[in-house]
Amino acid sequence: MEEDIFCQIVARKIPADIVFQDDQVTAFRDINPQAPVHIVVVPNRHIPDVSDLTPADAPLLGRLFAVANELARREGIASSGYRLVINHGRDAGQSVAHLHLHLLGGRAMAWPPG
Ligand code: 5GP
Repeated sequence: MEEDIFCQIVARKIPADIVFQDDQVTAFRDINPQAPVHIVVVPNRHIPDVSDLTPADAPLLGRLFAVANELARREGIASSGYRLVINHGRDAGQSVAHLHLHLLGGRAMAWPPG
């Protein structure tokens, strides 16, 4: 199995500010935050990106979103609002080939995104 940077964070081989971890999902603060709250939520299993998901991954996806929503509550941004983002490929700016959900909040955000 490929060992990308997020696999190494999940396995605690490299340091990260991990705010949640269970047997399926790990969440940690982004090293280059784009908002006052910027948490990356990843499956522990190596899935390169969103286009690799299959119907069998539906429970895992549900878990990713449930964790993101719970963290938004814990971080105090549930009522002010937050954005959940998955980047796929070059034009979207994906830089790490391990599926991840960005949880962004704590400031007003523009639409459409740049
Ligand atoms: P992408 O651009 O692929 O959607 O998002 C990757 C995110 O991972 C970026 O926001 C980037 O700052 C973050 N990131 C990359 N390497 C590391 C790292 O080693 N530790 C942490 N905490 N975040 C990282």
